[in-house]
Amino acid sequence: MNIHEYQAKEILRDYGVSVPRGIVAFTVDEAVEAAKKLGTDTVVVKAQIHAGGRGKAGGVKVAKNLDDVRTYAQQLLGKTLVTHQTGPEGKEVKRLLIEEGCAIQKEYYIGFVVDRSSSRVVLMASEEGGTEIEEVAAKTPEKIFKEYIDPAVGLLPFQARRIAFHIHIPKELVNQAVQFMMGLYRVFVEKDCSIAEINPLVTTADGKVLALDAKLNFDANALYRNQDILQYRDPDEEDPKEVEASKHGLSYISLDGNIGCMVNGAGLAMATMDIIKYYGGEPANFLDVGGGATAEKVTEAFKIILSDPKVKGIFVNIFGGIMRCDVIATGVVEAAKQVGLKVPLVVRLEGTNVDLGKKILNESGLNIIAAESMADGAQKIVELVQ
Ligand code: GDP
Ligand code: MN
Repeated sequence: MNIHEYQAKEILRDYGVSVPRGIVAFTVDEAVEAAKKLGTDTVVVKAQIHAGGRGKAGGVKVAKNLDDVRTYAQQLLGKTLVTHQTGPEGKEVKRLLIEEGCAIQKEYYIGFVVDRSSSRVVLMASEEGGTEIEEVAAKTPEKIFKEYIDPAVGLLPFQARRIAFHIHIPKELVNQAVQFMMGLYRVFVEKDCSIAEINPLVTTADGKVLALDAKLNFDANALYRNQDILQYRDPDEEDPKEVEASKHGLSYISLDGNIGCMVNGAGLAMATMDIIKYYGGEPANFLDVGGGATAEKVTEAFKIILSDPKVKGIFVNIFGGIMRCDVIATGVVEAAKQVGLKVPLVVRLEGTNVDLGKKILNESGLNIIAAESMADGAQKIVELVQ
């Protein structure tokens, strides 16, 4: 799960990790009010969206006075910001972070991630902050330093110090930088983060080490023990189809293709996507309706798939093990009637009562194409959408 920069900074503040003072604003007036409250000569107006690269896209503005704040807030609120991380459709700005300005001396990069090959949390750092770290990694990998952290003892101060020296933090600020890294590591572990990235971490003219940007991602499977993180969820930033699906207990992930898939079981759903691709098609989604899919659930699933204008055909691939095929077939027919299906529908059923299921499909009077096997079904739907 992803959260906004200002929310990540709230968490960091709770852990004693230094961040600039800042206030979130949802309207232009709130933005001006926030700047007044901060009372500094310079404030920074920052678009809050779940994507990086805002700086380059014009989503971070330095304001010298309250008129500037008003102008920038007006420009940014309601604007669709397109960054290299949003995709071409961009993201609408609905919140701003109004933050006190600071005199940046130098920008660095600090990040914690889970390294799968060593099964450890790794601390990565570079003195090439502010830019995309992927670019640094590709062009000058020698400028990225790493410390692998033993889970039994955690990040040790000497490791943080070694990193600070490698990236040339000024001597008099090394202790602050070490405190910063130790605090950020505590956030990472205690809140079950999958990424904690500060880009840039800055040193300032008045001798501070601060997180100017903050990106925290959380392991969704650990949210049950981090209820406090759930309050940060912003449904505006999520795919509305995915939000709707989760309400009905469906595992749905939106993809770029044009073949809608409805499958029971995550493994079969993956296999279905693979076989569609194998025959030259592109799935529009991953959708696992679960083991005990009811007719209602199947209907909801159909509605969600069809709300995607990219979908040019649907492939239903269901194994009726616990569920009976006749029940599934009835659900499919019901759903197809309810939503007024206009795109081709290929159905492959296998399992208990499969013959009865096929009979129901064939006698439905609807344009449903029954498939003999998974491969047959995949081929049929790929042909139909072309
Ligand atoms: P991102 O582009 O989405 O990663 O957004 P960042 O928060 O990293 O901002 C991009 C750039 O804007 C930073 O690298 C800084 O150079 C600049 N910036 C961000 N916050 C401030 C700030 O408080 N003061 C000043 N002067 N510059 C800032
Ligand atoms: Mn950044």
